[in-house]
Amino acid sequence: MPFHFDNTYARLPDAFFKRNEPTPVSAPEMIRLNLDLAIELGIDVDQLDSAEGLAILAGNQRAEGADPLAMAYSGHQFGGFSPQLGDGRAILLGEVVDNDGIRRDIQLKGSGPTTFSRRGDGRSALGPVLREYIVSEAMAALGVPTTRALAAVASGDQVIREGMTPGGVFTRVAQSHVRIGTFQWFSARQDDDNLKILADYVISRHYPDAKEAPNPYLALLERVIERQADLIAHWMQLGFIHGVMNTDNMSVSGETIDYGPCAFLDTYHPQKKFSSIDHHGRYAYANQASIGLWNLSRFAETLLPLFDDDHQRAIATAQTALELFPDHHSNALQRRFTAKIGLESGDTNFDWNLVQTLLTAMADGEADFTLVFRHLSDALEKNNDEIVINLFNEPAVITSWLHNWRARLQSVGLNQALDLMRQTNPVFIPRNHRIEEAIQAGNHGNFEPFQRFNEILKHPFAKQPEWANYESAPMPDEVVQATFCGT
Ligand code: AMP
Ligand code: MG
Repeated sequence: MPFHFDNTYARLPDAFFKRNEPTPVSAPEMIRLNLDLAIELGIDVDQLDSAEGLAILAGNQRAEGADPLAMAYSGHQFGGFSPQLGDGRAILLGEVVDNDGIRRDIQLKGSGPTTFSRRGDGRSALGPVLREYIVSEAMAALGVPTTRALAAVASGDQVIREGMTPGGVFTRVAQSHVRIGTFQWFSARQDDDNLKILADYVISRHYPDAKEAPNPYLALLERVIERQADLIAHWMQLGFIHGVMNTDNMSVSGETIDYGPCAFLDTYHPQKKFSSIDHHGRYAYANQASIGLWNLSRFAETLLPLFDDDHQRAIATAQTALELFPDHHSNALQRRFTAKIGLESGDTNFDWNLVQTLLTAMADGEADFTLVFRHLSDALEKNNDEIVINLFNEPAVITSWLHNWRARLQSVGLNQALDLMRQTNPVFIPRNHRIEEAIQAGNHGNFEPFQRFNEILKHPFAKQPEWANYESAPMPDEVVQATFCGT
């Protein structure tokens, strides 16, 4: 019995889900098993790393204590409301309580059709499995709240996408899979009783202190707003673009979820987007905060019946809460970006202005986001501005900025600034062209680049001289222009 399941979602009313067994795959093979995470989750590692463990993670054998189900949810996709989404290619096996006492979902992705599959096959191509593994684990190592990767399994079956491609099953771990879209499911059906049950469930699972507040549902909204506002600032600090910020892909626990056409910026541009289906740049890098607020507004709407019997008063309550978002987000963003240039606190307006000028110079000079920030500390240490200037296609856009920045740092200890910058600016990020390389090799049965990349990304803030080539931005012919959706 590798998992000690203790399921709560499966005890909720029938309207929350459909029970659904995974469909077996032909010839499962373990690609990567996250034993460190397994230990954290209190899983018996020897049993998980066995033929039985593989069979469970492929969906070929029912784990003892599992109560497999597909969750119901709706969602706004690119602004349009779909009342009927739900887990079409994912199955929740159950929950475990980790070593810190936190309840975590164990979910298979790509484990076969469910009631919610519509015309989809319920399967996952191997590429998106490898991508989600790499990016979610890298995000965790970078310190960003995120769902985790427990395992990637090759199914031995082919799936039909833009042609035939190998399939895979991914095991995702999350503090829960409740999304804004889960609330929208009941709201769209005007099912206030189940809406209240859901809100109470989320409060006890994620925000138990909200129970003590005068209005627990308002406290719930406020806490989700705070977590999302900081989460999005954290993404931006690292140059991360989620790519599909649909309301079904926004977790109410505040974890990053659903790594489809996501990517990290190489060359900085605020309007950069990667998703091949995001034609209007709705989810571009710099739009993420306003979309976050838009999504939270949809969340707030679902909670109106719980706020107040008087509809107008309920709306006023929601609006007051939503007004928290812009300040909370910009404070987080300022704190996170000033740290990137070695400034912890002090003259906030001046420092934020310094950040803005740098970003403008980076956009004008077509500079690489991650390299610029990391090289700033090298330039400081070696007292050599060329290290940074070389990253810009036009030295003139950055030279005076460097001068101003050095002047500002006079009042900050050099070592203090260097320490802060090195804890904040990674050396390694999961660059899109490296992910692509790992996927291409994986599709041909060679998982070596995938394994190596995962190992490097375990320590993103540390120099690893033997892997210095993984620091580099892509060569022009390596640049990935668009990332296809993770289906
Ligand atoms: P996503 O783009 O991952 O947020 O998925 C949006 C919706 O499409 C969700 O309801 C998914 O379960 C569903 N979906 C995506 N891919 C498939 C698939 N291959 N088979 C069935 N449903 C899918
Ligand atoms: Mg989704």
